[in-house]
Order: sequence, then C-alpha cells, then structure tokens
Amino acid sequence: MERTFAIIKPDAVGRRLTGPIVGRIEQAGFTIQALRLVRLTKREAEGFYAVHRDKPFFGSLTDFMSSGPAVVMVLESPDAIAKWRALMGPTDPGKAAPGTLRREFGTSIERNATHGSDAPETAAYEIGYFFRGMELL
Ligand code: UDP
Ligand code: MG
Repeated sequence: MERTFAIIKPDAVGRRLTGPIVGRIEQAGFTIQALRLVRLTKREAEGFYAVHRDKPFFGSLTDFMSSGPAVVMVLESPDAIAKWRALMGPTDPGKAAPGTLRREFGTSIERNATHGSDAPETAAYEIGYFFRGMELL
C-alpha cells in the first residue's frame, strides 16, 4: 500500500464539484484516509508551493489557491502516487485525455481542479503539511 496527498482546488470546490470528484476517487478504488476542508492563507499557499517560488506563475497560483475553500485528502491504494496522477491527467486540462479529472473539471493550466503529489518524498512532506498523526487512520 502507498499513500498520496490530494487537493480538490478552490475552482472545483467553488463550482460544487467536491461530491463528483470524491465519487470518482472512491470508484477508482482509493481509500480516503483523511479529509478536511481548508481555507489557505496566501502565506500557507506559498509554503505549500515553495518549490515553485521562482516560477512566473507563483504569484497567481498562490492567489488562486488562497481564494476560497479547498479539500485536502490522504488517499491510499497500491501505487497511489502514480495512480492518482493518472486519474487527474496532466497539468494542462487542454492536454488531458478524456475521462481524466483535469480534462473533465479543469478550466485552465492554473485552474486545473486537483493536486497530487509527484513522488514518495513530496507525498510525505505534503501529508505532514496538513495532517497530524492522530488525524490519519
Ligand atoms: N501551474 C500554472 N501554470 C503553469 C504550470 C503550473 O498555473 O504553467 C499551476 C497549476 O495549478 C499546477 C501547479 O501550478 O497544478 C503546480 O505546478 P506543477 O508543475 O507542479 O503541476 P502538477 O504537479 O500540479 O501537475
Ligand atoms: Mg507538482
């Protein structure tokens, strides 16, 4: 078993897509190990995306991620990190295959509906950024 960290981003939560996306997660066979609604401050969004701080999109991305509530989750399954990234599709919804969450629910390369960890080390860091040990099943 493996765990990954996922976010339903503020664009999707704001468009009332939390239920459909959680449904797709469960249909795909993930077990939800933790789940919470959060409203990130700009500073918290900057901390979460610190690896991107020198990118041209950093300011806009962190404004967006702190613009409204988001759902943070820990998902478990065999090969969860790669499996969740495959279900989301690539960063740009315009390049994502039919059936992927970003293709179905994303509206731009920034407002792409979901986040997923890209490696075991980032999954561990990102889970720890949002969840304490006692909140994890
Ligand atoms: N992003 C953006 N413009 C870009 C690339 C990325 O606004 O040109 C945003 C987008 O919301 C993306 C996030 O920054 O999900 C993190 O980028 P990353 O390259 O890590 O993509 P991801 O791992 O989310 O697919
Ligand atoms: Mg990434």
